[in-house]
Amino acid sequence: MNDSQVNSQKRRCPRLGSIIEFQYCLISGEDDLPCWKILDCWWETFDVESYLKARLPEAVFSPLATARPSNKVASILDIVEQAKKSK
Ligand code: SF4
Repeated sequence: MNDSQVNSQKRRCPRLGSIIEFQYCLISGEDDLPCWKILDCWWETFDVESYLKARLPEAVFSPLATARPSNKVASILDIVEQAKKSK
């Protein structure tokens, strides 16, 4: 699969409740970095870990590999931020 094919893969986002493309997950985190759930959401679809490891700087990839769910308030604020970006 080339980057374009990877980026256009779709799934239901558990945070937004709507169908999104992988490319959205790449920029929907803080400061337009990948969403912290990206490994959890995509590992069943393709080898997302190897894909990201090969393309992201270590300083960006490492936090994703150790990401944990944030508290409820932070999650709600994050969902609002994602909704703004999706418009
Ligand atoms: S990685 Fe984030 S934005 Fe992408 S589907 Fe999962 S929760 Fe939604």
